Amino acid sequence: MEREEIKKLQWERLQVTLNRAFLRVGHYRKMFEEQGIEPQDIRSLEDLSILPFTTREDLTVGDPYQMFAVPLRDIVRLHVTKGRKGEPIVVGFTPHDLDIWTELSQNTLCMAGIGREDVIQITFPFSMSSAALGFQYGAEKLGAAVIPYWDTEVSRGIEVMEEYRTTCLITLPSYFSQVCEKAKKGEVKLSSLCLKKVLLYGEPFYTSERDEWEGLLEVKIIDTYGLTEIFPPGIACECLAREGMHVFEEHLLIEIIDPATGKVLPSGETGELVITTLTKEGFPLIRYRTGDITSIITKKCSCGSELIRIERIKGRTDNTILVEGIRISAEEVEDFLSNFKKLSLRYQLIVERKEGKDSLSVKVELPPGADITSFRAIEKTSSEAEEKFMERTGIPVKFHLLEPGGLGEKYPLIIDKRKRS
Ligand SMILES: [Zn+2]
Repeated sequence: MEREEIKKLQWERLQVTLNRAFLRVGHYRKMFEEQGIEPQDIRSLEDLSILPFTTREDLTVGDPYQMFAVPLRDIVRLHVTKGRKGEPIVVGFTPHDLDIWTELSQNTLCMAGIGREDVIQITFPFSMSSAALGFQYGAEKLGAAVIPYWDTEVSRGIEVMEEYRTTCLITLPSYFSQVCEKAKKGEVKLSSLCLKKVLLYGEPFYTSERDEWEGLLEVKIIDTYGLTEIFPPGIACECLAREGMHVFEEHLLIEIIDPATGKVLPSGETGELVITTLTKEGFPLIRYRTGDITSIITKKCSCGSELIRIERIKGRTDNTILVEGIRISAEEVEDFLSNFKKLSLRYQLIVERKEGKDSLSVKVELPPGADITSFRAIEKTSSEAEEKFMERTGIPVKFHLLEPGGLGEKYPLIIDKRKRS
């Protein structure tokens, strides 16, 4: 499809989306009314920038189904993701939405050069069931053989790869890095693996890591991007040229904004990715702020595709980090601590990667006046906090309790020690 055709299709679909949202979603009707405009006042793709953004907070306020554009009886699938304080965001898919999602997942695989002759092993933790299912549908539609493998025990996963002659692994970077750690220790025999490609999803990883992993296992690693709120996967994907990720523009309209001012930035400048869905029936989103930082690449890709590209995700605009595929925000930790009551709200999150595995620890000060002489009492409080935190977030954590003032006057809220480049 030529650029002009893509733009024309986007414009037609945008008008339908705006009208549907205006007529069927209370939140969007109110948004239009507050601006004193109606959908027909948006006369071009560029005009979209006069509309306010949809934020993650908007998706967690009020009734869980308030953002749905169809009655619940027309929804056939619900997925849940997390808001900033860990509140649930419920995302609904109609049968048509599932078809589009499947198609986009299939496109993701095709772009990565995966075909029907491939044996695809899909491994995600249960908390990422939407991604696991999305990839499974796409792979089956493609006609490949799929091994859904949910056990995150790495040694067993490697055995499955050997036994079933897996040619493509789709997983989290943190899982794959553990496979590579095993390879480093000589616990993976290259001759017994048929693995050619690895598609990574759900967490950022660094180019230096990719180079190292590819060298270790003689595979080609492709980065993919999606969000449970939109399509997990199916927003963007690298092609074999790996010069950025192509965006599936027939279904999505993207903008890059300055996260501080909200101003739309010109192509090439780095900012926050904002997405408007163009074909979603159940859960349409207008100018959704993803919190992910990237930029648009204007140069045409050497693969020949006309689809616009974005750089691989460079980071987040908010205080959130991904640990084993689970997003955790500073606000959620703060909310946890204020409910827990036995600790102060002065804390610091530390993430590191040891032997390929991510680990999260929280340094937190005891409240002023706390008894810091009883080692047993402190030990008891920290294990209670660890247990409750795990219950709430699903992430194993180590709490290190400090005496009041122990963090000093100025300290960073998050320290991410995982290597970068
Ligand atoms: Zn390309």
